[in-house]
Amino acid sequence: MKNNLKFGTKAIHAGVSPDPSTGAIMTPIFQTSTYVQASPGQHKGFEYSRTQNPTRQALEQNIAALENGKYGLAFASGLAAIDAIIKLLKPGDEVISTNDLYGGSYRIFTKVFQDFGIRFHFTGMNNPNEVKNLVNGNTKLIWAETPTNPMMNVIDIAAISEIAKAHNILLAVDNTFATPYLQNPLDLGADIVMHSVTKYLGGHSDVIMGAIVVNDESLYERLAFLQNSCGGVPGPQDAFLVLRGIKTLHLRMDRHCKNGEQIARFLAGHNRVDKVYWPGFKDHPGYEIATRQMRNYGGMISFTLKDDSQESAFKVLEKFRLFSLAESLGGVESLCGHPASMTHAAIPKEGRLKVGLKDSLIRLSVGVEDGDDLVDDISQALQK
Ligand SMILES: *Cc1c(COP(=O)(O)O)cnc(C)c1O
Repeated sequence: MKNNLKFGTKAIHAGVSPDPSTGAIMTPIFQTSTYVQASPGQHKGFEYSRTQNPTRQALEQNIAALENGKYGLAFASGLAAIDAIIKLLKPGDEVISTNDLYGGSYRIFTKVFQDFGIRFHFTGMNNPNEVKNLVNGNTKLIWAETPTNPMMNVIDIAAISEIAKAHNILLAVDNTFATPYLQNPLDLGADIVMHSVTKYLGGHSDVIMGAIVVNDESLYERLAFLQNSCGGVPGPQDAFLVLRGIKTLHLRMDRHCKNGEQIARFLAGHNRVDKVYWPGFKDHPGYEIATRQMRNYGGMISFTLKDDSQESAFKVLEKFRLFSLAESLGGVESLCGHPASMTHAAIPKEGRLKVGLKDSLIRLSVGVEDGDDLVDDISQALQK
């Protein structure tokens, strides 16, 4: 396929073509564990479905195209994708990571891989000099997430990538929040882009999946080796669901962004609300970088209450009718959550407060419903 096609065309066509045996326009679900060989080693490129599966392969090529990358790899979850990336490292190697990151990423770093002798340093990456100060001879990987979860901090990927390149360090970016529709880290100098496909790429709250995209062939081969050797692969049914979900990614994202803006502005003008974290506000510290490296500001919003307590946050959360209280994000339906007790409960309280994650912080994943209905719901939930 031509690689200069625009996003909406790639979302629908990249990696997929009509099934040669029937003409079926939709990629078949190849629900098979193995493939028959004519003679040992004589096969059509598929031997065993942990290693290769045609439905998964179509999806891997599709996601790679959306990220302007050469190679895609799908995993059973976002965390299985992170697991593969950290397994590129050896005991004694060090990682510099954002201190404001997905709780499950923090947990696998500190509670799993630290015990295997890998050292993790956490720092705010708003100031790239803080990253530079932590680099030493053992630093092998920089882990960035932007916009960050749940504080919506924006990290300058190009600036961090300069530091990484100068010291021969890999830069991995968790692009789950922005999606390839809003931001392409490989184009900004990252070596690895990672997704929790569970979120916007799947988009319909019906699949758990992860993905990695890279440009470098040898890096791809090492990751494909890990994908096959450790075995955290998704099944073909899920690959099909995500291929289907991605076909509307650009349409969904436009609405997520539009609703996100409407709700962020409504919250900012509300008398019970203390701070609103959304990178599209001119006074957001990451506004300038977000405007440069993203195409729009997304539908993820966090806010705190003037009466800052877990109790007042819980009261608001219990009153929502359209926003469902649930973990996860990025689906067509609007969700709300309380990071301090839910997604980020694994992070100690002092660490949370250091990044501004207060007890009353509520995170919204704004869906693609009618924006006016969503505003009405928030308005009634905030009534005392
Ligand atoms: C959900 C999420 C993950 C983990 O992905 P799973 O698919 O749940 O394993 C990683 N990073 C971010 C930013 C996430 O939101």
